[in-house]
Amino acid sequence: MSCVSFDVQKIREDFPILKRKVNGHSLVYLDNAATSQKPQAVIDCMVDYYSNYNANIHRGVHTLSQEATDAYEVARKKIQNHFGITHPEEVIFTSGTTHAINLVANGFSSFLKKGDEVLVSAMEHHSNIVPWQMLCERTGATLKVIPMNETGELVMEDFEKLLSESTKLVFVNHVSNALGTINPIEEIIIKAHKVGAAVLIDGAQSCAHIKPNLNALDVDFYVTSAHKMCGPTGVGMLYGKKEWLEKLPPYQGGGEMIKEVTFEKTTYAGLPHKFEAGTPNIAGGIAFGAAIDYLNEIGFKEITAYEDGLLSYATLELLKIEGLKIYGTSKNKTSVISFNLDGIHPYDVGTIVDKLGIAVRTGHHCAQPIMDYYKIPGTVRASFSFYNTKEEVDKLVEAVKRAKMMLS
Ligand SMILES: *Cc1c(COP(=O)(O)O)cnc(C)c1O
Repeated sequence: MSCVSFDVQKIREDFPILKRKVNGHSLVYLDNAATSQKPQAVIDCMVDYYSNYNANIHRGVHTLSQEATDAYEVARKKIQNHFGITHPEEVIFTSGTTHAINLVANGFSSFLKKGDEVLVSAMEHHSNIVPWQMLCERTGATLKVIPMNETGELVMEDFEKLLSESTKLVFVNHVSNALGTINPIEEIIIKAHKVGAAVLIDGAQSCAHIKPNLNALDVDFYVTSAHKMCGPTGVGMLYGKKEWLEKLPPYQGGGEMIKEVTFEKTTYAGLPHKFEAGTPNIAGGIAFGAAIDYLNEIGFKEITAYEDGLLSYATLELLKIEGLKIYGTSKNKTSVISFNLDGIHPYDVGTIVDKLGIAVRTGHHCAQPIMDYYKIPGTVRASFSFYNTKEEVDKLVEAVKRAKMMLS
């Protein structure tokens, strides 16, 4: 961590929650893969909306409604620019990743038939498995799994063997929330397109660490949640190529998504409104834009370099503990460390470190198939953000040592 331009103490000042005490200790927040903390700029943005221009959007001619609509559409533009998206109407606001995936899965019901195949990776989050299972049940298509290996990487030779003219859709996460693996999505997209399959990338875990250029990636769909990238809960993005979004049927019916309604027939509104039925999370959408501004002010290069430093240091220090095993050892990974102590249940480790003010995740991390692969009930997962410090890593290591002493 030689990056002198990166002043982590100054950055920590932006996050009011980091001043909290938990169980008498300063909070050490290492559950960033579940949700990130929020900087004051994002909190202020939501307070400002509710205090000064709260109104429903796209509906009123009055001043407040226009101000709210403008701010919401400015946020859409910020998302568009950040992700290198060609048209603003290719950005659909959703309630999050799960909602976005379900929207696409539901839409594909009308395109799939028996004999078609859908590929998902072995390291998917449950929200990227269940909707496809439901889709396959509805359509008679077959769900196939791209296997992974012991280091937590996808077996690309097997992926190529699975691809055929029957493959209609490929779904892979950009980064695994349970292992931290960064998947080779460029290669996956190119190869899937060669057989004519569409690709959806789940970016819920990547977007706090990586700034993807979706136009350059030529991906068909990309989804993410604001809350994992310093934004509020309850809002996220579906990116879809215009051609796809125009073909997909609407997901929910309601206000805002229609052009004309009679009891005989309704004509749908154009993009993006066709997929944005009802009053959206207005404050959340605007604050999603503020979160993107905040992250870009720090800079993704800086974030990645700093987090890589933390990851290497934490990996090195944790591995000094005898009987500690790390799951997910891909060379290409973000700052997630999933581990277990030999013979000790992850839940017990999590409970002891919490007593010391350290928040880690324990369990299957909504990725049970990965746990089944390693034949373990779950792991302890420490996931780091750019506001974590080397001193916090030291505290974690000490706490894990203590847990080991108490439990073995
Ligand atoms: C968190 C996460 C999800 C689910 O996101 P929600 O915000 O809960 O909808 C899906 N996939 C991955 C990889 C995740 O990390």
